[in-house]
Parts: sequence; structure tokens; C-alpha cells
Amino acid sequence: MPVSLSPSFRGHEQVVFCFDAEVGLHAIIAIHDTTLGPALGGARMWSYSSEMKALEDALRLSRGMTYKAAMANLAYGGGKAVIIGDPKTNKSEALLLRFGEFVDSLGGRYVTAEDVGTTTRDLAVIRRRTKFAAGFDDGGSGDPSPVTAWGVFHGIRAAVAHRLGHRSLSGIRVAVQGLGSVGHNLAKFLHEAGAELVVADIDDDAVAAAVEDFGAEAVDPPHIYDQDVDVFAPCALGAVLNDQTIPRLAARVVAGSANNQLDEDRHGTILAQRRILYAPDYVINAGGIININYEGPRYDAKAAFAHAARIGETLTELFRIAEKGGVATNIVADRIAEERIAAAKQAKRLKLAS
Ligand code: NAD
Repeated sequence: MPVSLSPSFRGHEQVVFCFDAEVGLHAIIAIHDTTLGPALGGARMWSYSSEMKALEDALRLSRGMTYKAAMANLAYGGGKAVIIGDPKTNKSEALLLRFGEFVDSLGGRYVTAEDVGTTTRDLAVIRRRTKFAAGFDDGGSGDPSPVTAWGVFHGIRAAVAHRLGHRSLSGIRVAVQGLGSVGHNLAKFLHEAGAELVVADIDDDAVAAAVEDFGAEAVDPPHIYDQDVDVFAPCALGAVLNDQTIPRLAARVVAGSANNQLDEDRHGTILAQRRILYAPDYVINAGGIININYEGPRYDAKAAFAHAARIGETLTELFRIAEKGGVATNIVADRIAEERIAAAKQAKRLKLAS
């Protein structure tokens, strides 16, 4: 089937299929849009059941990156690479080096980074073949999770101010689902701001740490949706906002780091109808790519944290527009991102014509 007939195809600029039987490489690089800058997006390694499934993921995720960068005011476009294979058994140095060569062959139109199934160690290998790789450890921006958590923290502050009229988080009850790299940092920031925490994770050690360090109340993972809280912060899995979970939420705000929180777009509208304020995932969790933006010749952590904090202002504006227009926040976010890209395209056209 032609790529352009794939259900997730949305006018992507370029899709590159990368094969090397000798090293077992079978990868797809999708470049969605480079209007705002080079297409940035991680390289995901996963045992996809078919090339079609891998293509769908690359097309969907690369488009998401375009919107994320646009909403974070970054000079990046959206891209994503998927490497088909089990990262535990199919990954080799030779495969990563060959993948790096394919990335390099795009001449900087695509900049790769770590993602599910790849690590900063893998990135160090890929970088031996291309300079178009970001988010590395040695002198680079390293683990983005603290900056992501800082952005989510400011997003929660903005949402609580908008929906509950509280400037401070003191006494605000937050349910954090997932206490991994982002969730743990977020719980720390919330605790320091005086919030009361209810937490859940399938990892008992992560829960024990939050109970001990932040005085959090632990609940079983399936019960996290039913808590009497002001904010629900999904920081684990995608598709957690769905027909089954939304009716169970008592929270007036949903704001967390997880990617693809809405099972389907229509769930954004269902949340709005229930008067639950939803902070669109790709707006509130942009700290990761914001962090990469400050890698430069020397990583500037202070600037990265300051930029991530501005996610709060972006969301406040978005909430106002959504309320005024009576439209769900996820729809408003898509619209603003699309308008930004269209304006940049028009400016480019005018510049070329002059
Ligand atoms: P992580 O793997 O470090 O943490 C995820 C945590 O969720 C783990 O502790 C895991 O045990 C827990 N978990 C898994 N299933 C669960 C369940 N059913 N109930 C409760 N907890 C469960 O990942 P992370 O880096 O902290 O990222 C969290 C989310 O945020 C992911 O969706 C990720 O894609 C997204 N995100 C992360 C970043 C970043 O900078 N790390 C940036 C943008 C988006």
C-alpha cells in the first residue's frame, strides 16, 4: 500500500525506509514537517508485528512532534524513527552505526534522540556516524525527566489557578499515576509546594520512596482514578483517559506527563463536557524537547528549566481560548500549532517571493 494511503499519513514531507540485511536493520524515518526547523524526534526500537504497524507509529509520532515543538515555541519540526526489532535481542553496535549512517544521509533534516527501546548509550554509538543526534550524556543535555517534570509542575499550577482559582498548590490534592523518572521528580516539586499526594505505581519500591520522601498516600494502581483529589496527573501510560476511566474521575484538572493520554480525540471533548480541565499532553510534557534545545555547544540547564516553566503561561492562554470558544483544550492546542506552522510557511513563501 502506498505510504500516502496509510490512515496516519497527514501530508508528511518525507518517509525513508532503511534496510541492511547484513546488520539486521529495518527502520523507518518519518519527517512530518520542517517548516519551523529540522525534524526532531527519538528513535524507537520495538518488536512491531508488521512493517505497517511500524509505519503507522512513525507517521503518528512524527506528526505529534511537529505540534509539540510548535507549541513550545521551538525552532524544530517533527520527525520520528522506528527500528523494527526487539531492543533486548536484536540491537547491536553494527545496527546502531548503520542507522546513524541513514540519519546522516538526510543531511540534518532529521535529528534523532533516544526513545522507548533506545538509550543514551545507544545514542553515543549512533553519534559516531552522525552529528544529527541530540540528548546525549557526555556534555549533552542528558536525562530530560527533571525538566519535563518542572514543565508539568508549572502546567499543574496554571491549571489549578484557572479552574480552582488557587494561586498556590498548598493543600491541593494531586493523584500521581506512575512514579518513574518524571513522576518521582514531579511528586518532589509538588510536595515542596505544599500539595498532598496520592500515588500509585506497579513498582513497589517507587511507591515506598514517595511515601517515605514526600509523605504520599499509596493506593493500588487500578484505584488511582477513584481518588478524592483536585488533580489527576497521569505519568505512566497512554490512553488512560477513556470511556471507562473518565466517569470515575473526581478531579477537576487532568495534567500529567504521559504521552497520548486521550484514548481518542473525542475524549478531550468528554472531559470538557464534564468540566474537567485537561492540559493537552504534548503541550505540558514538552520539557524533554525543550531540554534538547539548550544542548548547544554547552548545555544550559538554567535556560532549559526557565523555558519549561513558561509552559504554564502557554497553558493559561490556551485555557482562556478554549473557555471563550467553548471548545475542548486538545482541539485548541491542535489549532494553535497548525496556525503557527501555517504562518511560518506563509512567511517563508513571502521571503522567497521577495
Ligand atoms: P518511566 O518508565 O521512568 O516511568 C513510568 C512509571 O510508570 C514506572 O515507574 C512504571 O512502573 C509506572 N507504571 C507502569 N504501568 C503503570 C500502571 N498501570 N499504573 C501505575 N504506574 C505504572 O517513564 P518516564 O520517563 O517517567 O515517563 C513517564 C511518561 O511521560 C511516559 O508516558 C513518557 O512517554 C512521558 N514523557 C516522558 C518524558 C521524559 O522526559 N522522560 C518527556 C515527555 C513525555
